[in-house]
Amino acid sequence: MDSAEYERKIAARFATFDQDGNGYIDREDFSAAAKAVLAEFGTTARSDKGQAVFAGAEAFWQGMAGIADVDGDQRVTREEYITGAAKRLRDNPERFAEIARPFLRAVIAVADEDGGGATPAAATRVLHVLGTPAKLAGVVATALDGDGDGRISEDEILSAFAAYCGVEAPDA
Ligand code: CA
Ligand code: CA
Repeated sequence: MDSAEYERKIAARFATFDQDGNGYIDREDFSAAAKAVLAEFGTTARSDKGQAVFAGAEAFWQGMAGIADVDGDQRVTREEYITGAAKRLRDNPERFAEIARPFLRAVIAVADEDGGGATPAAATRVLHVLGTPAKLAGVVATALDGDGDGRISEDEILSAFAAYCGVEAPDA
C-alpha cells in the first residue's frame, strides 16, 4: 500500500468513528451511534436491549480513549487516532476489535427482530444509519455473512470489524 492509499483509508476509518463529523472522536459520537441504531429498530433506550447498546457504546468509547486519548482531554483527534489507535490496530487488530465486542453484541441483539439472529438485511440498516452509503451497506452486510447461512454472528461481525480497522501502514 502506498502512503496516499494509507492516508485515505485512515481518514475513512476516522470518519467512521467521528459520527458527527466535528473533527474528533468523543463520547458523543458513540452515544449518537447508539441512538441511531435504537431509532432505526424502534427500540427504546430504557429497554434491556437499549440499555445494553448504550453500555456497549460507553465501553467502546472507554476502550478507544484508553488506547488513543494520549493527552487525556476526552477527545481523540485525528493525530491521536493515527499514532495511538492505528498503531495498536496494525499490531493486533483482533485485540483492538475486542473493545467493540459488547457494543456489537448489543447491536446484533437489537437488529435480531425474529430471534433467529441478525440477517444481512438488518445489518444493512445498521450500517446505513451509522453512515455507510446505502449501496455499499448492502454489499458489506452480505459479505458479513461469511458462512452464508443468512444470519450474521457476533464472531463474523467482529472479525470483519478487525479486518476493516486493521489498516497496514506503508513501509517507510
Ligand atoms: Ca465527533
Ligand atoms: Ca485527546
